[in-house]
Amino acid sequence: MTLDSKVPKGPIKDKWTTYKDKINLVNPANKRLIDIIVVGTGLAGGSAAATLAELGYNVKAFCFQDSPRRAHSIAAQGGINAAKNYQGDGDSVYRLFYDTVKGGDYRSREANVHRLAEVSVNIIDQCVAQGVPFARDYGGLLDNRSFGGVLVSRTFYAKGQTGQQLLLGAYSAMNRQIGRGKIKMYNRHEMLDVVIVDGKARGIIARNLVTGEIERHSAHAVVLGTGGYGNAFYLSTYAMGSNVTAAWKAHKRGALFANPCFTQIHPTCIPVSGDHQSKLTLMSESLRNDGRIWVPKKLEDAKAIQQGKLKPTEIKEADRDYFLERRYPAFGNLVPRDVASRAAKERCDAGFGVNATGEAVYLDFAAAIQRYGKEQAHVKGLDESDSDLVIKLGKEIIKSKYGNLFQMYEKIIDQNPYETPMMIYPAVHYTMGGIWVDYNLMTTVPGLYCIGEANFSDHGANRLGASALMQGLADGYFVLPYTIGDFLADDIRTGPIPVDTTEFDDAEKNVKDKLDKLITNKGKYSVDHFHKRLGKIMWNKCGMSRNAKDLKEAIIEIAELRKEFWKDVKVPGNADEYNEELAKAGRVADFLELGELFAKDALHREESCGGHFREEHQTEEGEAKRRKEFQYVAAWEYKGEPKDAVLHKEDLKYEDIEVKERSYK
Ligand SMILES: Cc1cc2nc3c(=O)[nH]c(=O)nc-3n(C[C@H](O)[C@H](O)[C@H](O)COP(=O)(O)OP(=O)(O)OC[C@H]3O[C@@H](n4cnc5c(N)ncnc54)[C@H](O)[C@@H]3O)c2cc1C
Repeated sequence: MTLDSKVPKGPIKDKWTTYKDKINLVNPANKRLIDIIVVGTGLAGGSAAATLAELGYNVKAFCFQDSPRRAHSIAAQGGINAAKNYQGDGDSVYRLFYDTVKGGDYRSREANVHRLAEVSVNIIDQCVAQGVPFARDYGGLLDNRSFGGVLVSRTFYAKGQTGQQLLLGAYSAMNRQIGRGKIKMYNRHEMLDVVIVDGKARGIIARNLVTGEIERHSAHAVVLGTGGYGNAFYLSTYAMGSNVTAAWKAHKRGALFANPCFTQIHPTCIPVSGDHQSKLTLMSESLRNDGRIWVPKKLEDAKAIQQGKLKPTEIKEADRDYFLERRYPAFGNLVPRDVASRAAKERCDAGFGVNATGEAVYLDFAAAIQRYGKEQAHVKGLDESDSDLVIKLGKEIIKSKYGNLFQMYEKIIDQNPYETPMMIYPAVHYTMGGIWVDYNLMTTVPGLYCIGEANFSDHGANRLGASALMQGLADGYFVLPYTIGDFLADDIRTGPIPVDTTEFDDAEKNVKDKLDKLITNKGKYSVDHFHKRLGKIMWNKCGMSRNAKDLKEAIIEIAELRKEFWKDVKVPGNADEYNEELAKAGRVADFLELGELFAKDALHREESCGGHFREEHQTEEGEAKRRKEFQYVAAWEYKGEPKDAVLHKEDLKYEDIEVKERSYK
């Protein structure tokens, strides 16, 4: 198989415009003759479904939650990037493009990233028109803040609830189309297979999660916007339901899976507190605009803190190590996530961690409270030397920016982060890997598209903050609605796709057999038992830093765990009823296959880049060391067992950006 990325020729800044001018279109009357299935109604799927329906296609949209409003996208906190340059601080489409390629450690496709930067500006206009309440400055204009890995302020936000507000925008656009009858919404439905007819994706098999009924749905094209697979690690900042099943089923039907090992471990999450936990909580990256990250300089202070004998507020300024500011003076606390995570791990591994487990660093707002307080006192003509007043005014500003995040932290940790620094530690947060797509966002299966976090995406080996929302909405509102027409233009005379065919029979049987096997297994252990064990292998051996020995062990251990799962998993209840445990079992079964491919991919990638840090490949200063030989997308073809997956390479050419050593000093 040769991978054809279908990147158009010509200067990078003209590629998308010229391509759109020449692409096949489906005329408005013919769009009414065409059905599209959109699986997933988060920001990517929701925006795509709404736009495709607005264009005139007949859309069937699926999600496993009880409403599109509950997609994982709702959790997004910090913001969405766009190259508007409203701050006049030197931003441009080129700079956003450059930052994203560099941030991704030169492992993303240049042409896609440039297109992303181009359409980023439209997204903000679209969302403002929908009524998304982005934060505004004193004069009423849209406000911005800064995120990691960049030197400008280009992040639009709605307090710490940007995902929620954007999702409400996409959801209302969808609802308009549901009202018009152009979208038929299937809530509480889980896609369990893709149906391929004559080499094209022509439908799906879905399970009604409320009744357990297995349903056949056909269409002329299928779009997956089914999110990321970080829950393979069990503990993560993802919504509990996020899973890889849809992408994995597509992979098994011929869609290549690209860079599965590229996972983002976010530096600012609430640390793990024990074995009972099933969820980790993110503290948005936006907090690094104002929070300073530190650990004690002296080992004895760190030990005293770990034992509860010393408080952070009792440590003098001179005895604090602001390690990001020390190591990366140019970007300071706003280095990209992979860099910040590794630096925190390095300090904790050296014994400087600040909680009982030794796996936490401080995120401190005291300096920001002082700074804002003084500014406010000055603006209001009040006494700047009144320290109580300054602190009061400073806290008010911090509250207005991050109030909901501070409240969340206090509820979980029972400490007041206005008074004492937050404790944070890296946690699994996002997957840059995913289904391989070409410039049209089509997978290697004709007619099967993949958008948002589910595809291997524009973020290379590391995603910069606030760019997942940008990519999901770019794909859904502005890219896929054009590119899908190129494929569907051949289908205007095809007519409805029948579901009473052998292809649908076989796919349905495949799904039912698997469900029956899970139900009739009657083993000894719960699904969670296996999921937790998988998570431990993933975190310990495929986590923030990786080496060949651990990865080889992980491959063996995951394969063994998978065998054990199929022998010993116990799923109560029946398949023809509401059965959450059965749904979970199917998802964990897929994680157990993906996990092995993940480790295999990480083992083969003999370099460090972005979120993938191989201990064998680092500089003397402990920074990631890329290797030119690995400047490619690793796209894996399914061949029965993960161990047999076949590697295909898409070479990455950087014609507009010079590949340099990645430095944030
Ligand atoms: C706590 C947190 C904060 C974040 N903050 C930011 C931020 O500030 N800025 C930013 O840019 N990014 C942020 N991100 C990342 C961002 O939120 C996600 O990458 C993005 O929302 C993913 O959107 P999506 O539409 O691709 O997938 P999702 O929102 O995960 O949606 C997936 C959809 O697919 C459906 N689905 C999945 N599988 C199936 C199936 N088999 N059958 C039927 N339906 C299925 C689900 O029901 C859902 O509707 C954050 C992430 C987290 C966890």
